[in-house]
Amino acid sequence: MQLLKERILKDGVVKPGNVLKVDSFLNHQMDIDLINEIGKEFRRRFPSDKITKILTIEASGIGIACIVAQYFNVPVVFAKKAQSINIDGDVYSTKIESFTHKRTYDVILSKKFLTKDDHVLILDDFLANGCALLGLIDIVKESGATIEGAGIVIEKGMQDGGKKIRQQGIHLESLAIVESMTDTDLTFKED
Ligand code: 5GP
Repeated sequence: MQLLKERILKDGVVKPGNVLKVDSFLNHQMDIDLINEIGKEFRRRFPSDKITKILTIEASGIGIACIVAQYFNVPVVFAKKAQSINIDGDVYSTKIESFTHKRTYDVILSKKFLTKDDHVLILDDFLANGCALLGLIDIVKESGATIEGAGIVIEKGMQDGGKKIRQQGIHLESLAIVESMTDTDLTFKED
């Protein structure tokens, strides 16, 4: 998505540890006009009218998912990072290792909000090693719902998350795939 790539080049900042900061427009301060365009683009790439729910994970996925969901007219449900490990039977749960925080979270989702009849589009801001997305996929599998696809705003193509997801046969769409990045240079994979 050209508009997004131009914005990453203009305002993205590469930090040590292979982290791309896009917090001036995507996941701290949010450029709503841009995220509306992101919503339209996801709709174009996932035209299925079977989708019943958008699933994401707190925190930074939520705002993006809420704007995108307006182009799908379906509810957003988000997996929560559990405060305690006392997980009861009313929730689906999985473990996710955070790339940015270098720790493992228990993640939960109430069984009320995802059932076997749902057709789910999973959304997140970044795809790096794939732990977050694989965790969300686990939750959908546990619920018996159908995965219609996964939409990612920025995939870091030099990490292998994208490969792991595509190998599972999941329809993955990333709006910008970073091929390489240093503090002075960032390149994208061609669409
Ligand atoms: P993964 O689980 O695929 O390794 O990492 C995905 C999660 O880590 C995303 O939900 C995102 O919040 C965070 N993340 C991974 N890489 C980056 C990055 O380069 N920049 C930012 N801002 N977040 C990242």
